[in-house]
Amino acid sequence: MSEVYEFLCIRCPKGCRLKVMVEEGRVTVDGYECLEGKKYGEEEVKNPKRIVTSTVRILNAKYPRLPVRTAEPVPKDKILDVINALKGVVVKAPVKRGQVIIENVAETGVDVIAERDMECVEK
Ligand code: SF4
Repeated sequence: MSEVYEFLCIRCPKGCRLKVMVEEGRVTVDGYECLEGKKYGEEEVKNPKRIVTSTVRILNAKYPRLPVRTAEPVPKDKILDVINALKGVVVKAPVKRGQVIIENVAETGVDVIAERDMECVEK
């Protein structure tokens, strides 16, 4: 018995429509225009992943919250764990874009990083 899934590839703005077929454990992907899309289609049926974005509290900065995100996509079933790990995190300015805020968040093997620079502001 085979199953067919349809996804919109989100790896680039082109948004190719993917058709993913699973038959006896074998996965085939149609509709991609590059290998990133083929990989995305395979992952969506085997182990779907997403980048998680959020904010954490920051002290001594112009704004009270620092935008952060996972450096790589994490498995969908770990998203809640990642969000919970970010609760109560407080960092101090200055922070540089790409700076690691949490290493190996929720045991995913992926770091949470700062999305932007945040200068130190004297108060
Ligand atoms: S298949 Fe390739 S070209 Fe198409 S949306 Fe995905 S990444 Fe972009």
